[in-house]
Amino acid sequence: MEDLLFAVDSSPHNDRAQACAEPLVRPIEITRALFAPGRNLGILQVGVKNRPGSISKVTDVISRASVNVIQLMITNPSIEKTATVELLIFVDTTDAALDLEELTSQLKSIDVVEVVTMLKPQLPNFIADTSYFPTQMLGERFAIFRFPVLRALVETIRKMVGSAGVIALYLEGQAMGRDLFDSYRTQFQEIVAGNDLRIFELMGSAMGWARFEIINANDENKTATVRAYDSWECGIGRKTVAGKNYAQLLRGLLAGFFTRHFQTEMVAVESKCVAAGDSYCEFNITKAKED
Ligand SMILES: [Zn+2]
Repeated sequence: MEDLLFAVDSSPHNDRAQACAEPLVRPIEITRALFAPGRNLGILQVGVKNRPGSISKVTDVISRASVNVIQLMITNPSIEKTATVELLIFVDTTDAALDLEELTSQLKSIDVVEVVTMLKPQLPNFIADTSYFPTQMLGERFAIFRFPVLRALVETIRKMVGSAGVIALYLEGQAMGRDLFDSYRTQFQEIVAGNDLRIFELMGSAMGWARFEIINANDENKTATVRAYDSWECGIGRKTVAGKNYAQLLRGLLAGFFTRHFQTEMVAVESKCVAAGDSYCEFNITKAKED
């Protein structure tokens, strides 16, 4: 069985990263839809009793049928123990001993399995999971914007309204930054006190915005320097307007977040940018001038 879940990455990059004992950072594919010409794709929803060994009983049956698992996720990972756990499994049965219907009926016969439903491709070679909606993270709804959508959002406002569009993006970012801080305070409650900047770094990476590094944050002077590695926004600028600093939304986001952190109106200026040829973006955050 070609099981991607247990595949070992033997690339030189991986060897190097492991040799340095640094955590390996690489892209993660979040599978919500698949397009694979010539492959028999399917999606299984399997409800199993929440007890040790349940998941391995399901994967054993899939493995014995030589079905390739493309993604397997537990869809309701509650800290509280629930009676049933749901698995969402994207499979490829092209080289399998069973087709999707036969696999479904085999899974139904497992003692710990309570329910199995299957989805077949809605279009030739194309399958999307329509059984879970909306998408949520940490209990809140989110929508996935793929890069072409983000690029269109940002480029359109910049092209249509020029410098006013640039300002609009910055103001949007500011509002986002303030709301983000407030939502963290509600969501993570007491750990936000003293840790809000670390949460900003961690969530920035987990959500795929950028790998942020707070270089310094001085509570007395109310100044900060933040680096952003591989931000999605400046990834647009790198492709379209190379040579100039590009961040507006992200610059605003930092200004808004630090306005809450320092409890003073702050501004953020981008001093280095990947769109201008630097290897990362860097932002200097200072108090806004009083009128
Ligand atoms: Zn930048």
